Amino acid sequence: MHEFSIAKSIINTLDSIAKDRGIKRLKRIWLDVGLLKAVNCDALSFAFNAIKKSYPAIQQSELIVKEIPIGITCKRCGAKKEIFKPIGICTQCGCTELDITSGNELFIDKIETC
Ligand SMILES: [Zn+2]
Repeated sequence: MHEFSIAKSIINTLDSIAKDRGIKRLKRIWLDVGLLKAVNCDALSFAFNAIKKSYPAIQQSELIVKEIPIGITCKRCGAKKEIFKPIGICTQCGCTELDITSGNELFIDKIETC
């Protein structure tokens, strides 16, 4: 499962951050997830909550997922748009040559400790 392995790698990252910095307990974790990653956020939270139980520093923490819309810029007319579903076509001029400017994010934005 896609979300399960993502959750696992987030927790591994958090675990090493906590160890490196001597943090006893993480409180909240903000995660940026671009819509192009096609991550199911509910499934990700579920997996996170299941895995975190084995990690004392993380087990009390709350994961807050922020979905980042897909940013596109049309190469022909320069129209910029933020979309929530990949469309692959400029709605202004119909051109299919688009630059993707956001939507591929998958990283820990911020961590709050107790
Ligand atoms: Zn265009």
